[in-house]
Amino acid sequence: MTQRTALVTGGTGGIGTAIIRYLAGQGHRVASNFRDAEKGERWRKAMADEGIDVLMVPGDVSEPGSCVDMIKTIEDKLGPVDILVNNAGITRDSTFHKMSYQQWIDVVNTNLNACFNVTRPVIEGMRARKWGRIVQISSINGQKGQYGQANYAAAKAGMHGFTISLAQENAKFGITVNTVSPGYVGTDMVMAVPEEVREKIVAQIPVGRLGKPEEIAHAVAFFTTDQASWITGANLAINGGHYMGW
Ligand code: NDP
Repeated sequence: MTQRTALVTGGTGGIGTAIIRYLAGQGHRVASNFRDAEKGERWRKAMADEGIDVLMVPGDVSEPGSCVDMIKTIEDKLGPVDILVNNAGITRDSTFHKMSYQQWIDVVNTNLNACFNVTRPVIEGMRARKWGRIVQISSINGQKGQYGQANYAAAKAGMHGFTISLAQENAKFGITVNTVSPGYVGTDMVMAVPEEVREKIVAQIPVGRLGKPEEIAHAVAFFTTDQASWITGANLAINGGHYMGW
């Protein structure tokens, strides 16, 4: 397999870590971002102990200028970004009638506007080189909506609108753009949900358990291969059967 440079935003999180393991396992040079230098360094060392060398660069995906700097540093050190996984994300849950503007905008900035901030600085290079793989990590709740998550569901649904437009604009340039929509995966994000709520969620999952980060990473890695060059604009649900919409 050709060795390429891959950027996975939010690599220090549960799903991001698994994606980085897969992409490094495919032989790619991998990079990610940190906001807290100490946390970023601790995580980088843990990955190095596993034999995975990750270039860690400061970057806040909700800030356009920060993303321009982040991409420049990565490209200077590792070469052009050919594989981009827009994975960083947050939740700030509240029913809409009680939601603050801050809760709304933080979630939209980090999940949806980040797609602009991180993708815009890499897309022209991908078009010039006539090869690229872009994957958005959306969510089951962008597909089906979720009580208490109007901000998150709107942002995650918007990510797939971004995917299918970018897929059309860039198909002739060897660039595929796809979305992966995970259901509930046992990462910090989901383990922060009270146990009794989690039990109710698991009861709705036909497979009968939460997902594992590797189960998401496996699919993301597949989309980044040369062999997946005819798959673009797809939205792959990986959710244990929790939502089976079209
Ligand atoms: P985690 O909370 O474990 O990790 C989130 C990652 O995003 C962290 O690395 C965090 O970094 C980073 N991040 C958050 N905000 C920013 C920001 N402004 N700039 C840069 N990085 C940021 O989440 P998961 O691994 O569970 O989730 C990964 C993705 O998958 C998210 O987009 C999430 O919405 C989506 N998802 C998750 C599901 C789940 O069940 N876990 C289900 C469906 C979708 P830092 O350490 O700096 O906070």
